[in-house]
Amino acid sequence: MRLVVGFLYARLMNIYGDRGNVVALLQRARWRGIEAEAVAINAGEPLEPDLCDLYVFGGGQDKEQYVVAEDLARGNGERLRAAVESGAVVLSVCGGYQLLGHYYRPHGGEELRGLGLIDAHTVAGDTRFIGNVVLRGEFGELVGFENHSGRTYLGSGARPLGRVTKGSGNNGEDGTEGAVCGRVYGTYLHGPLLPKNPALADALIARALERRYGQVRLEPLDNSLEQMAHRSALARPR
Ligand code: GLN
Repeated sequence: MRLVVGFLYARLMNIYGDRGNVVALLQRARWRGIEAEAVAINAGEPLEPDLCDLYVFGGGQDKEQYVVAEDLARGNGERLRAAVESGAVVLSVCGGYQLLGHYYRPHGGEELRGLGLIDAHTVAGDTRFIGNVVLRGEFGELVGFENHSGRTYLGSGARPLGRVTKGSGNNGEDGTEGAVCGRVYGTYLHGPLLPKNPALADALIARALERRYGQVRLEPLDNSLEQMAHRSALARPR
């Protein structure tokens, strides 16, 4: 089996270690004997919808998001949509997550049109949500770090990744964190997220492999190091 991971806007959207999600996905596939490689996709480079099975779309500041939103509008957004429609999976984090919703309205800035792959919208607030986050949802307990001014509100077409037990999550009001919309996942958790949340990493890999191989059962791995990192993050104060 082979897994190709696309790192979307690798040069621009890679804040707070989000590139580590790509490394974790590749490694957890390779540890199971699955061939795995990463492809960096940057602004001005046409995305090939059939190439990648799983995309990682990291976070970035407003100024990077303006550049990326423009590139998505010039064609890469529709090519990413075609990839998702043909079975590709997307993990989006913070700024990337915001651009996969219907729109992101930065603080005092021009509204950025999103792809609408996630039924949600985001409006920047006056303060930033910064600190360690813990949430519980369909992938169990997830831990990470948030730093965003955006408040994201989910529509009926999206379900939350989970509910926060520590931290602000999507908007600091409704207790939700992240979003799941079909094969598109969004979260505010940086860190990077996946090395210390192995159940989510494996679920994304299995889902992405379905596109070419149908239902896949991944061999369990020894997650003792990952659990140690998870517990260490869990113990951190807000
Ligand atoms: N610029 C966005 C915000 O502040 C996203 C930030 C990020 O990706 N960490 O909400």
